[in-house]
Amino acid sequence: MAIDALHCKECRAEYDLGAHYVCERCFGPLEVTYRHAPVGDVAAVRRRIQGGPQNIWRYADFLPLEVQPGPSRRAASRAGLPAGCTPLVRADRLAERLGLGQVWVKNDAANPTHSFKDRVVSVALARARELGFDTLACASTGNLANSVAAHAAAAGLRSYVFIPADLEEQKVLATGVYGTNVVAVNGTYDDVNRLCTELSAEHPWAFVNVNLRPYYAEGSKTLAYETAEQLGWETPDRVVAPIASGSLFTKLARGFEEWLELGLIEGDVPKFHGAQASGCAPVANAYASGHEVCRPVKPDTIAKSLAIGNPADGPYALELARRTGGSIDAVTDDEVRAGIRLLAETTGIFTETAGGVTTATLAKLAGRGDIGRDERVVVYITGEGLKTLDAVRGTFAVHQVDASVDSFAATLPSAVTA
Ligand SMILES: *Cc1c(COP(=O)(O)O)cnc(C)c1O
Ligand SMILES: [Zn+2]
Repeated sequence: MAIDALHCKECRAEYDLGAHYVCERCFGPLEVTYRHAPVGDVAAVRRRIQGGPQNIWRYADFLPLEVQPGPSRRAASRAGLPAGCTPLVRADRLAERLGLGQVWVKNDAANPTHSFKDRVVSVALARARELGFDTLACASTGNLANSVAAHAAAAGLRSYVFIPADLEEQKVLATGVYGTNVVAVNGTYDDVNRLCTELSAEHPWAFVNVNLRPYYAEGSKTLAYETAEQLGWETPDRVVAPIASGSLFTKLARGFEEWLELGLIEGDVPKFHGAQASGCAPVANAYASGHEVCRPVKPDTIAKSLAIGNPADGPYALELARRTGGSIDAVTDDEVRAGIRLLAETTGIFTETAGGVTTATLAKLAGRGDIGRDERVVVYITGEGLKTLDAVRGTFAVHQVDASVDSFAATLPSAVTA
């Protein structure tokens, strides 16, 4: 698909393919549009994708780069830090525990910086280079800073990453190590975002999720492409995915819709279930009260990577959940901790708090009887447990023994008799 223009999602006004993100007429968000060439030979296109690189650039023809679709665009894969092609794991023990039929876990913690953000940063970086930027920047809830710092290092670009000052120490350390400029802002993510919006007007920097947001957002489509390819070119019946700004959630749908329209995959658009933490649930709140817009909140949750109080794509996430017959739920911090443990104990996958939100939401949907036993559900695990260790501290016992068989037997009598 050839990249066409930027269009306002609200009034459809057209803009050139520069570093623009907001409509000058109505302040609506801009998105990338493409000129769809009809897919003649579906089998040939599928074969070309399967023969492509083992990363998101196998889908380069569907991503917003100016270079013509084909080999030269796929060659973008040779630059930088490859993201994507993460495992889709069938989770029968999790399904059994929840009384469900077919549950699959898309483990996007298996990316270079251990979150799905490597997908969106890869695409934003590739476009930033086409547009001639030499400095990468972002407003982050944690994982984005991590990813921008690493990808900038791999590409030899300067970077500035802005985070809320109260972020988990693991995420700060895992970011600074790449030699970026870490800026900890006294305030919430929404304050960080406002600051970055102002800075983007003053500095010729590629803020991946501000002035490059239309390109950045397209990277999340690869999560849908990959899922469909891994399911044998079919869509799942339902998806459960976390919502921070709502970008991942809505672009996941866009990915499935694009490939369905092109005839590359079989099935229907899945039912979309969004997951938020109740300490920062502007979209779930609006869903519950039947509103079409979100009232901003001040975040207070352990799920810091999802702590966006004023989500840019909130209204579109609401519309998507309603249109597809899905839902948007919120879960408490205790449910988040339980969700992390449930996923770990049934699949061997250790996720961060965001994945705890998603797993707890799946459990809630199952408990409510919203999911049929004949349905295929994909759960999106977007980040790694080692980055939010505090969430599991104290949730299990460590057996302290002396280095003797007697001490072991005295401390764990059940292990000896079992
Ligand atoms: C950023 C992030 C998300 C989703 O973010 P959106 O702004 O909704 O696209 C989900 N999970 C994790 C772990 C993240 O870091
Ligand atoms: Zn507009």
